Amino acid sequence: MDVGADNALLAMLPAAPRAALQPHVSRVSLVQRQILWNTSQPITDVLFPVTALVAIVGQADKGEDVEVAAVGRTGLVGLPAFLGDSHAAQAAVVQLPGEADRIAAAAFREVAAHQPDLRRVIHRFIQAFFTEAAQTAVCNCHHHAERRLARWLLTCQDRSGRAEFPLTHEFISQMLGMRRATVTGELGKLQTAGLIRATPGRVVLLDRAGLERLACECYRIISGEYHRLLGGEAR
Ligand SMILES: [Zn+2]
Repeated sequence: MDVGADNALLAMLPAAPRAALQPHVSRVSLVQRQILWNTSQPITDVLFPVTALVAIVGQADKGEDVEVAAVGRTGLVGLPAFLGDSHAAQAAVVQLPGEADRIAAAAFREVAAHQPDLRRVIHRFIQAFFTEAAQTAVCNCHHHAERRLARWLLTCQDRSGRAEFPLTHEFISQMLGMRRATVTGELGKLQTAGLIRATPGRVVLLDRAGLERLACECYRIISGEYHRLLGGEAR
């Protein structure tokens, strides 16, 4: 496996930190709804998603947890481990199945301690991640379901590199903290407008430019920060 071939953060690294990480990396497959860790569980690995997308989920009442950020090929899952802690107040749940590069947390910390270029990249991701979590809080309070849903679907595409997703209305409603009936209604509107095709258990993006026009300004703010901080195709 070639470290840095796919995850954008790994691809940004110079040769020295890439070589230092190489012996510790293994490519793993993640399945949808897989819980990488819950709030009561230690974080033993960090993951650099390649085609998988992982939801960082804030805890609410039982069964009403809400996504606060989505980490895909432009990110790292397991920031508390990088920061020297072993637990998080949020859970990590696989939103879209796919592959990721996994490194044991202790090995990752050891490499990072000796590789300033690696730390610099992760620090820039942390800043983008914080913007996403903060802006998502604004979005959840102030923006209409249709515009939130458009933003969320665009982010799914940006971070997974795909335009077709295995997503049920129930799962979308859990991630966005919307009633299931609302999700069904809003998906129907997007489909009528020709922006998506929604079949049971599957959503296909058809008109990205149209979704961008519909999405709330949170999409522009968050994707702009990812691009500013991480460059390239990061959004
Ligand atoms: Zn918004």
